[in-house]
Amino acid sequence: MKKNDKEKFLSGFIAIVGPPNVGKSTLLNRLLGRKVAIVSPKPQTTRNRVLGVYHEKGCQMVFLDTPGIHRTRTPLHKSMVASAQAALVEVDLVTMMIDMTRPDDPEATRILRDLKRVGNPAILAINKIDRGSPERLLPIMETFSRLHDFKAIVPISALKGEGIREFLAELRARLTPGPPFFPESMTTDQTEPFLVSEFIREKVYLFTRKELPYSAAVTVEGIEEAKGRTLMRIHAKIHVESESQKAILIGKGGNMIKAIGQSARKEIERVFGVKVYLDLMVRVEKNWSKDPKALRKLGY
Ligand code: GDP
Ligand code: MG
Repeated sequence: MKKNDKEKFLSGFIAIVGPPNVGKSTLLNRLLGRKVAIVSPKPQTTRNRVLGVYHEKGCQMVFLDTPGIHRTRTPLHKSMVASAQAALVEVDLVTMMIDMTRPDDPEATRILRDLKRVGNPAILAINKIDRGSPERLLPIMETFSRLHDFKAIVPISALKGEGIREFLAELRARLTPGPPFFPESMTTDQTEPFLVSEFIREKVYLFTRKELPYSAAVTVEGIEEAKGRTLMRIHAKIHVESESQKAILIGKGGNMIKAIGQSARKEIERVFGVKVYLDLMVRVEKNWSKDPKALRKLGY
């Protein structure tokens, strides 16, 4: 009997794809019960793909949160798109996500085309149902069931946690027997320094809004633990492309960088459960987002 149980362990790799801003990172954080991917009201902030492992008795789902798949020209955007498309090919299942308040996002059409080409089974998650009226849901479900042979269509609110259990049940029903790929203690492949740099980047976007579109990168130069690991000393650099961007980031009398630093510090303290001392520097790195060499150096 025991041997049988072991054979029946279910596992699979699941990509989360969808137009920018539909809530992919929010869903991943919700599934894992902790923050592994940054969330932003502005599109396209998830640059690298993030792996998140969901554990349950007898089953393991490995999720890949991908940057939005979209048309683009710069090397940075190209590398984001390539990582989203590669994720599709590697997985057993795909969760396509749309925003119920913007069901006709043109990116969805491109993603559907990719799905058909790759041909792996897909589930549609219609997100943000907390924001749309229920009457609008049915027509959206009908439209999308005509557009693609989805194995299931599940309305959810990643933010409020609605429909998540049903969503997981649909995925579970489609897993095949396989080994647990990762130990139970592991929820993400994102390292501590990387998560720290992402949390800082999230705050840079949050506070600077439209002024600093996609031209900021963050590197963590060092993390020291002190006081029996109850204090983290973090040294990080924010890289921007011009002196004028640097001036925006620093703000009047250092107000902006102070606000970013404070907010990032609180987030890191909350996620890691330790006191944080955060030292932030701003550096001008001309044209980094267009220079493949600089991109590699900054980890893209
Ligand atoms: P991504 O670009 O697809 O990864 O989207 P994010 O997870 O970064 O979310 C984009 C924005 O949508 C953020 O402001 C989220 O707080 C918001 N959001 C995500 N899920 C929901 C939801 O279920 N309901 C509502 N109202 N907002 C959501
Ligand atoms: Mg995201």
